[in-house]
Amino acid sequence: MRTKLVVGNWKMNCGIEETKILLESILKNYNGANLNNLLQVCVCPSFTSLSTAFKILESNTIALGAQDVSINDNGAFTGEVSIAMLKELDCQFVIVGHSERRMYFKESDELINKKVKKILENNLTPIICVGETLEQKENNQTKEVIKKQIHGVTNNLSNEDLLKIVIAYEPVWAIGTGKNATPDQAEEVHLFIRKLLTLKSTINVSESISIIYGGSVKPENSKQLVAMENIDGFLVGGASLKSNLFLEIIHSF
Ligand code: PEP
Repeated sequence: MRTKLVVGNWKMNCGIEETKILLESILKNYNGANLNNLLQVCVCPSFTSLSTAFKILESNTIALGAQDVSINDNGAFTGEVSIAMLKELDCQFVIVGHSERRMYFKESDELINKKVKKILENNLTPIICVGETLEQKENNQTKEVIKKQIHGVTNNLSNEDLLKIVIAYEPVWAIGTGKNATPDQAEEVHLFIRKLLTLKSTINVSESISIIYGGSVKPENSKQLVAMENIDGFLVGGASLKSNLFLEIIHSF
């Protein structure tokens, strides 16, 4: 059975004080949803709030994740954060290849693939984002784009590596727009991704990889989405900044 996962991507929101308030509010009403159904919950604050979140979550089952990582271990790389720094704070997950990083920071599949390898070498779990833009969707290029991204980001990963990754399908046109993919639209792409992963490995491997959906997930649509066979959880942006919404999404499992 695949692990179900709900990940909150806080993006560039919540300084230290807001992080305390948001996490305490989540914890107050979070009653160990992850004891059921193999559900893992994770929050990904900004780098400067990770240490605060680490202290608050220390004895909790909610995991900590980062929003990015450097491909370099240390040295003269101004502005970068290394994997060792994330390990010190007990981060278990790292988001890579988010469309905002692809778009604003020109990250390529090749670079994302290097980050994935760095994360796996250090026994953390990469949450690898893929997804098509509105223009690509309207030109019927969704599958072509997803295929290229999946091949690029998983290049040269062994079956053993593939078993340790999480894929997040995030159609760019659905991120922060209020327009989510319908359950059928998302399921079709998730199944397609699973088939691509089967071709890269074996059916047993691909059936074990969690593929989560992101793009305007909210309590109103989370139940229908998670009822789909190949949707194993969510990467949540906006709604993860409101404890009541995040908790409702968690409890839709
Ligand atoms: C995201 O940024 O990963 C995301 C899915 O954002 P939102 O939920 O706000 O669409």
